[in-house]
Amino acid sequence: MPTSDQVAGGRPAATQAGAILTIDLTAIQSNYRRLCDALSGAESAAVVKADAYGLGMTKVAPALAVAGAKRFFVAQLDEAITLRGILRTKHPDTEVFVLNGLAAGPGEDFLASGVHPVLNSLGEVYAWRTQAQNTGKALAAAIHIDTGINRLGLPEGEFDALVADPDRLNGIDLRYIVSHLACADEPAHPLNAQQLAKFQVVRQRFADAKASLANSSGIFLGSDYHFDLARPGAALYGINPTPGSANPMAQVIRLQGKILQVRDIDAPQSVGYGATHHATGPTRIATVAVGYADGYLRSLSNRGSAWIGGHKVLVVGRVSMDLITLDVTAVPRDAAHPGVYADLISPDHSVDDLSTEAGTIGYEILTSLGRRYHRIYTGA
Ligand SMILES: *Cc1c(COP(=O)(O)O)cnc(C)c1O
Repeated sequence: MPTSDQVAGGRPAATQAGAILTIDLTAIQSNYRRLCDALSGAESAAVVKADAYGLGMTKVAPALAVAGAKRFFVAQLDEAITLRGILRTKHPDTEVFVLNGLAAGPGEDFLASGVHPVLNSLGEVYAWRTQAQNTGKALAAAIHIDTGINRLGLPEGEFDALVADPDRLNGIDLRYIVSHLACADEPAHPLNAQQLAKFQVVRQRFADAKASLANSSGIFLGSDYHFDLARPGAALYGINPTPGSANPMAQVIRLQGKILQVRDIDAPQSVGYGATHHATGPTRIATVAVGYADGYLRSLSNRGSAWIGGHKVLVVGRVSMDLITLDVTAVPRDAAHPGVYADLISPDHSVDDLSTEAGTIGYEILTSLGRRYHRIYTGA
């Protein structure tokens, strides 16, 4: 039977969960406004694919709409239909674009739900034009031109064919010409300028459509990259869009794992599966109720760190499915005992910090956040 503080979506109550994930919606809103300021005039969309990077699209998207976001991007058609349903009543003036395009699902489903495809090939352009002819009215879409990432979008040859025969766009209400940067988080990478130059040429060919190039990091490459619309995701959620420099964004999440047990061991004992950590002397080990099943990545074995009562502590031994073990020898006993929460992600230890320890990027940490956490949304 659900307890009174059990939240929607079958997530556990705080008293029954191994960890508490707190998501600050006000911080997401202030990050959105900060990006708008950095754009000085250009508009900012909001990318909320993958359940708003793991933070919960149902809560995050309306908060962004309240902060002023009008255009939303997701990857998949089902995400778009869910989002349309979330925004329809209170934010009817918002638009939803599907980055994976018409390959994401049937054109009829786009029409029925009122979401727009980002067309990624001449074949999709043709299919959407046909759909428009059959429907008897112009249909909104964006077109993605690949300028060098070689992932999605019209390759150069298909773009040339489109330019040679613009009638292929008849019946398509072309809202945006889109492209995507491969190396925006590396400002000195030569591919940035190359993609920009190609995109400027593309844009001249479709002078009537608005243009969109920058993701989070692209916004910080300078105003040449801004065009009409930016498409930030990661920066909204607190990930540093300018790696190597101070993070201009506010932290959004806090993750606290509950200590289940504390034990004293001494050499020559070892800790955890595979006996990969060896005590070299008297050691106190705290076992915390978070594991790789919760998205606390196994690569953090013997590499992650956490904070307890103002003390930095290290993950020792392997991360297992439901548990991690921390060396709390240096923490006073009254600060590290069963029932105390260890900060796994916090202002002292950001998503980016944890991702560096794990040998990955903050994006993967966020989108891996588990379903067993008790979630608390603050603000908004
Ligand atoms: C995911 C994505 C974005 C957002 O990128 P961030 O780096 O998270 O800001 C923008 N555009 C496209 C095409 C994407 O796939």
